[in-house]
Amino acid sequence: MSAPNIETIVSLSKRRGFVYPASDIYGGLGSSWDYGPLGVELANNIKKSWWNWSVYERDDIEGLDSSIILNRNVWKYSGHETTFSDPLVDCRDCKARLRQDKLDQDASGKFICSNCGSTNLTEPRPFNLMFRTTIGAVSADDDPSALAYLRPETAQGIFINFKNVLDTSRRKLPFGIAQIGKAFRNEVTPGNFIFRTREFEQMEIEYFVRPEEVQQLHQEWLDAYVAWIKALGISEENLKLYEQSAQELAHYSERTVDILYRYFPERSDEEKQWDELMGIANRTDYDLRVHSKKPEDAEGKRINPDSTEDLSYFDPQTNERFYPYIIEPSIGVNRTLLAIMMDAYSERTTDKGETRVILKLTPEMAPIKAAVLPLAKNKPEIVEMAKRVKKDLQPSMRAVYDDTGGIGKLYARQDEIGTPFCVTVDHESLEDNAVTVRHRDTWEQERVSTDQLRTYLTDRL
Ligand code: ATP
Repeated sequence: MSAPNIETIVSLSKRRGFVYPASDIYGGLGSSWDYGPLGVELANNIKKSWWNWSVYERDDIEGLDSSIILNRNVWKYSGHETTFSDPLVDCRDCKARLRQDKLDQDASGKFICSNCGSTNLTEPRPFNLMFRTTIGAVSADDDPSALAYLRPETAQGIFINFKNVLDTSRRKLPFGIAQIGKAFRNEVTPGNFIFRTREFEQMEIEYFVRPEEVQQLHQEWLDAYVAWIKALGISEENLKLYEQSAQELAHYSERTVDILYRYFPERSDEEKQWDELMGIANRTDYDLRVHSKKPEDAEGKRINPDSTEDLSYFDPQTNERFYPYIIEPSIGVNRTLLAIMMDAYSERTTDKGETRVILKLTPEMAPIKAAVLPLAKNKPEIVEMAKRVKKDLQPSMRAVYDDTGGIGKLYARQDEIGTPFCVTVDHESLEDNAVTVRHRDTWEQERVSTDQLRTYLTDRL
């Protein structure tokens, strides 16, 4: 089972402290969200898992953390200043502002307002998605020399560091650079909880290859990502691949395959249940060429007179110099978190007929690995022992102590936030130095000696 809709996850998130509406005490700020105590743990677990998998477990990836605000020329030569826009239309009837490429069309091909159903829409006009800011204390808001942007993707920070990383790490092709960081897009129609927001986090790899290897390695990355996403606990039946058509491809891309997740299972039209979790693009040699000082156009003019570097690669095997092709797997932390929570959501009916929510997160993703609960909070010896057990576990895993309710309620709370193990300290524990370990998914209980507890849990995590 997975969540019946995003709304179920919105209310669970707010109720239990995964994600809250941002700026709530001032009425909110359309489609922005803050990650609470459990949400930040889950997001960190996703980022840790990705970094381990992509940087530590492979031999061909280096890490990077580049700036959010870059020289404006980066966005000029990347093409973002002129092309990073969505087609904006206004509905003349209800005044809604919409993204044309996300609207349905009627039989005659007219776009339909998603808000009121009218087809009385304005002609589309490009709306650039980059957030603008100005640099320097004396700059006026309209001073073009002070204009800068918040990055709309982390990728460009990697391309402009290609030579730095190549020279300092002494890498040979194929190799990649991985980065996790915030990106900002002034989306026309943000929404669907954390699926589309104006501020979000990306985990991107730019993988530099010889042109002749690009097709095979592109496919290998695609297969590797499907396997990693499944290892996060996301089931195959809720994943689908989508090959972008020639019309959909970005200006730099030769082939892009999106991995879609079933974010909208409640929709009766199966086609509309899916949306993008991530994309894997073959960006060709576009990026390293446009940021290099050497390439010339047909008239012999430098295409980039502002760059001071040439980002080509000298291949010692063939004695040739060329601009590497790039494979770019790009995935959002926030969309991954939403897919993980939706997929882990399940319900179970108790003997008394009550419905309990169980978040079946993998142990790696669970924000809290073990909750230590005293069976009697008015018995100081039991409380003291429970606190000691929690403290012993803490260096090896995120553990919590909770005595704020009866045992049934405490179990239910931990099930709902995905804690794989509850550890109960009772009267007998004082005698036999053992505790009861309860498993989230089966509700089975086992007696484990406190000396063995840490090993017992880490083995199963
Ligand atoms: P979409 O078509 O949904 O607007 P995109 O194709 O523009 O997405 P990319 O530019 O390929 O997205 O960005 C790579 C990844 O970054 C996406 O697959 C997604 O996981 C994440 N992402 C992009 N835009 C947003 C956003 N506004 N909010 C949350 N995550 C985003």
